[in-house]
Amino acid sequence: MKLQENNFREFVLDKHYLLVLLECLKKDTFPSDLRVTDIMVKRAFRMGWFLKTDFEDLLYYMDSRLDYYRLDVMDLSIKLGINWENVCFKNNGNAREAIWFEAIKFEQATLLLILFERIGFQIYPEALVDLLIPQIKDKTKQLINESEAVILMFYREQHKLSISLCTNDKIDFEPQMLQSFINQKNYKIVSYGLSENLKIIKIFPSKFRRPRTTSFVDCVDCGIRWEKGNPSSSYNHRKEHKKRMWYLNPKPLPKMLEEIEQNLEFELVTHNSPVWKHNEMLIRARAFKQELHFDFLQWHSRKKNCNSDVEGYLFTNQQGSIVGACCFRFKKVINDFKWVLDWIWVCPQERRSGILKSRWDKFKSKYGEFLITPPISESMRAFLSKQGEGDQI
Ligand SMILES: [Zn+2]
Repeated sequence: MKLQENNFREFVLDKHYLLVLLECLKKDTFPSDLRVTDIMVKRAFRMGWFLKTDFEDLLYYMDSRLDYYRLDVMDLSIKLGINWENVCFKNNGNAREAIWFEAIKFEQATLLLILFERIGFQIYPEALVDLLIPQIKDKTKQLINESEAVILMFYREQHKLSISLCTNDKIDFEPQMLQSFINQKNYKIVSYGLSENLKIIKIFPSKFRRPRTTSFVDCVDCGIRWEKGNPSSSYNHRKEHKKRMWYLNPKPLPKMLEEIEQNLEFELVTHNSPVWKHNEMLIRARAFKQELHFDFLQWHSRKKNCNSDVEGYLFTNQQGSIVGACCFRFKKVINDFKWVLDWIWVCPQERRSGILKSRWDKFKSKYGEFLITPPISESMRAFLSKQGEGDQI
């Protein structure tokens, strides 16, 4: 969650670093020789690591200001959340006699370069980012970490995100703007504090746009709360909306229409039923779990539902849309084995429309005096008492 809160855009540093960074950013630097840095980058990519000395060379080739004697780049990088490790060259398996070097993983080095660029240095993370993106995008890779997320978003965010550096000193004054200047890279650097007391540096890149104002909206159709004006929240809502509308506002399902033609018991789902029916059951079991805030999902994939002690039903309307589902389980109740109505879920717009009532007699004749697993909703309670079934709970 750290990334969403912070997104590597706010850092707390010792005042010393703020002063030194401010001093560096005011100076001009020489143009970089990217032919040299490209060779260094490719070599490190092959190894997967940058040795500290090589990484320092890379930085200085890109921006000579990072060679400033008052700036301890390694210590600063640790404060920015970068991990350094000790590595050694494989010495025929004899690690005891190995010589250890401080090094940084290629991915962490890339993140650090991105951060130095955001701070306003003349840094070119592109060569490293281009080597890593195909690996991060690899289809077999399902999870990515925070650094990889930043690398993946690099081109979309480059020169657009502001960054704040502030001191950990406690202050009892309202910081005022101390100075503001545009540096060689066309980044605007603004410092805040009170006379000699520097508190915050904010760096606004060349393509910086103030973030749009956002507001929270509850979707009346799918019930999701999302942040209007925030592209990633909007994207997540659209994705989840589509998923939820599948069962909240179901449309006739061609496979179910086929099933109605071919199978008298078209609503029944047993361990022999096709996978799509199990998936439709699973979708309703998830809806039930979500609505009642249960911890466990009460339906499994077809592979796991391999016994005849569980039977499901996909409630289908005249048009062939699946409007709900229920699940019966044959299980031990005190000293006896009985059929139990484990769960039932009907989409809100079809509730109280006789879905369960029209099937009740059939369920009674097939499963006998079955029990009902609590907790039981108010509407279910009302339904049961109408059927004269109050003592089944
Ligand atoms: Zn929605």
